[in-house]
Amino acid sequence: MKVFGNTQIFGIMGHPVEHSLSPIMHNAAFEALGIHAVYVPFMIKPEDLGKATMALRAMNVSGVNVTVPHKGGVIEFLDELDASAKQVGAVNTIVQRNGKLHGYNTDGSGFLLSLHKDGHFDPAGKKVVVLGAGGAASAVAVALASAGVRRLVIANRDKNRAEILAKRVRRNFDRETLPVALDESRALYWLIRESDLLVNATSVGLKGSERLGINPNSLHRKLFVFDLVYRETTLLKMAKRRGLKHLDGLGMLVSQGARSFEIFTGKRAPFRVMKNAVEHALKFVK
Ligand code: NAP
Repeated sequence: MKVFGNTQIFGIMGHPVEHSLSPIMHNAAFEALGIHAVYVPFMIKPEDLGKATMALRAMNVSGVNVTVPHKGGVIEFLDELDASAKQVGAVNTIVQRNGKLHGYNTDGSGFLLSLHKDGHFDPAGKKVVVLGAGGAASAVAVALASAGVRRLVIANRDKNRAEILAKRVRRNFDRETLPVALDESRALYWLIRESDLLVNATSVGLKGSERLGINPNSLHRKLFVFDLVYRETTLLKMAKRRGLKHLDGLGMLVSQGARSFEIFTGKRAPFRVMKNAVEHALKFVK
């Protein structure tokens, strides 16, 4: 990669950020399309988020992705939000146009695209349990509601956050949405038994052996299991052992990244190149 005086700058703001595969994915895409641009990691402490976001303008940074823990907090420093970012209440993509910062959320569309394309699963009319109520769960819940699910259960360790997310979904969509606590194990057992799709949108599983405490017997034969974590988690191992259809978060990672790339550049993303770059990188971090 050659960097010139007129090379455009993109990046990712997070804390931590060193684990992110986005620099590898986006730089591979820039190179494949011959775009003079570079994508770098920005480690931003929560207390510096305002200053860092303002600096995007001052430093003429063309666009950034935003990751944990800044997806919600960054909103107050932006000029415009698209509809999905407003509904989700979180931003994962910022682009600078004429000195204004525009915020988008591509996690939800990335999730749906992967569910359809990689999982061959259509959520319309289905019953779904989403585990988690953070930024990713919010994007997934809003996307599923917009895709026409019949019932959405939001199960979180902190039930209060599940209630807040359920209210957010109901504000935008006329869908049955039920908040439960992860430790309401009996209720959760039956809600999963009655569902078609189980999505893990908590961060549990990032560190290989962590468990969510889901009763394995709730994973019935027809359940589709989607784990946003892009490695084989305990939940995915359980699904595999039981012969269930399942998907990890790799396809979503690439789909949300491809959509961000299109917002950044206005060009069609080289999906295969981005996916290959991520798969190759994962061989070295596993
Ligand atoms: P977040 O906003 O920090 O939310 C974390 C969620 O995990 C909360 O619901 C939290 O519950 C729950 N949680 C954390 N530790 C837990 C534990 N020990 N037991 C039970 N629940 C626990 O993070 P996020 O942005 O939503 O990200 C969540 C996951 O999705 C991460 O693994 C991230 O890498 C992944 N992700 C993947 C993609 C992709 O493209 N594949 C995209 C976005 C995110 P409380 O509310 O009770 O604390």
